[in-house]
Amino acid sequence: MNAMSRRGALRALGALASMPFVPTMALARARPRVVVIGAGYGGATAARYLELWAGGAVDVTLVERDAAFVSCPLSNLVLAGSRTLRDITVAYARIAKRVRVVHDAAIAIDPQHRRIRLARGGDLRYDRVILSPGIDFFFDRIEGLDTTVARERAPHAWRAGPQTLALRRRLEAMPDGGVFAISIPRAPFRCPPGPYERACQVAWYFRRAKPRSKILILDGNEDVQSKKALFMRAWNEDYEGIVEYRPDCVLTGVDVGTGTLRFETADDVRADVLNVIPPQRAGDIARDANLITANGQWCEVDYLTFESVKVPGIHVLGDAIQVAPQMPKSGHMANQHGKVAAAAVLALLAERPVNAEPVVNNTCYSFIDDREAVHITSVHRYDATQKTFLPVPGATGLSPAKSAREGDDGFAWAHAIWQDMLG
Ligand SMILES: Cc1cc2nc3c(=O)[nH]c(=O)nc-3n(C[C@H](O)[C@H](O)[C@H](O)COP(=O)(O)OP(=O)(O)OC[C@H]3O[C@@H](n4cnc5c(N)ncnc54)[C@H](O)[C@@H]3O)c2cc1C
Repeated sequence: MNAMSRRGALRALGALASMPFVPTMALARARPRVVVIGAGYGGATAARYLELWAGGAVDVTLVERDAAFVSCPLSNLVLAGSRTLRDITVAYARIAKRVRVVHDAAIAIDPQHRRIRLARGGDLRYDRVILSPGIDFFFDRIEGLDTTVARERAPHAWRAGPQTLALRRRLEAMPDGGVFAISIPRAPFRCPPGPYERACQVAWYFRRAKPRSKILILDGNEDVQSKKALFMRAWNEDYEGIVEYRPDCVLTGVDVGTGTLRFETADDVRADVLNVIPPQRAGDIARDANLITANGQWCEVDYLTFESVKVPGIHVLGDAIQVAPQMPKSGHMANQHGKVAAAAVLALLAERPVNAEPVVNNTCYSFIDDREAVHITSVHRYDATQKTFLPVPGATGLSPAKSAREGDDGFAWAHAIWQDMLG
């Protein structure tokens, strides 16, 4: 496809808007191709909004290796038993009516020939790629975690699905009076409040089902990373005697045979159920495509377009990127990235200027028990001088206290965002 025909297709957007009777297929041969890899919070949003805003003038393909979307937000409630995996699973059927969904794994990107290789064979050609692969883990940074068996016996459950159920089964099998240990890596990691919410959820389960049991939060950081006062209050008041928080516990080794965790400086810990959340990096496909540029961990992007600073034509979103100051790695934020990137890709394809002042926001709910939640919000505006998003002063909000009303809002938030991204 030459540049003129691509431009023509995008220019046709305005005309299509005023002439709904014009068949979209008339543009089919001239349509630029955008392939989105990863149909999670970032990728599904980008695909959906590309389709919505382009009105048929762009050929959008969404590549996803999983059969259905399973949400990490609310997955800690599945661990606790107040929700099921089915409650947090959404089919891809609705978005598949709007964009072509290919259920396969992307295994390589060839930027020179603009092709993506798929695991089951075959290539997809693209004019631009949007990549939102989420995270993968540095298992090799923790001695003893190098085998599949070890990883099954100390599951991270930091991607929702089979691991969530595996950890739930371990909690159910643990005798009353046992110890559950959750190890948190050094920041940055996916969902800063997530591990602390998990401790609350497991405490809620223990209080009802195994009241003599204990939870040890072994944090690789010097302090609680998000909503500190709210979580501390929950551990001291709601879950007094159940939860113990220990900072500066940088994990170096695991012995799944004896249930022992070893640390850089802290004393060894023995527990009955281990939940080891390893250090994280951008997903494998981002690493394999040479997109990781920051600390061997994350992909740096131009925040106006989310295009990789290293490989032109590839836009990276969500948890995989090197985030701007105080920007969380969250589902809500990945959804916001998806919209900024979709708008920028359409502008670039049409050879029009991109929005020079994007603003994104984040709201994150954490459940203290099965009904009550707390939240934190922030707003981030692009700063042209520093070429990054900066938090808008005064825009950050934190719940004064947990409430059932916030819990209702938290469930409503999840359903609204699933609909926004998946239709
Ligand atoms: C326990 C927990 C609780 C959380 N709670 C919240 C919360 O309350 N609110 C919030 O906003 N965020 C929350 N998060 C964080 C949120 O889940 C992530 O920030 C979000 O999922 C990031 O979106 P993403 O698009 O980057 O990655 P993902 O949503 O993980 O999507 C990545 C997708 O890419 C697919 N994929 C990867 N590689 C390939 C490939 N090579 N080929 C094809 N497909 C591929 C994966 O299968 C996956 O579907 C939580 C996370 C956890 C672990």
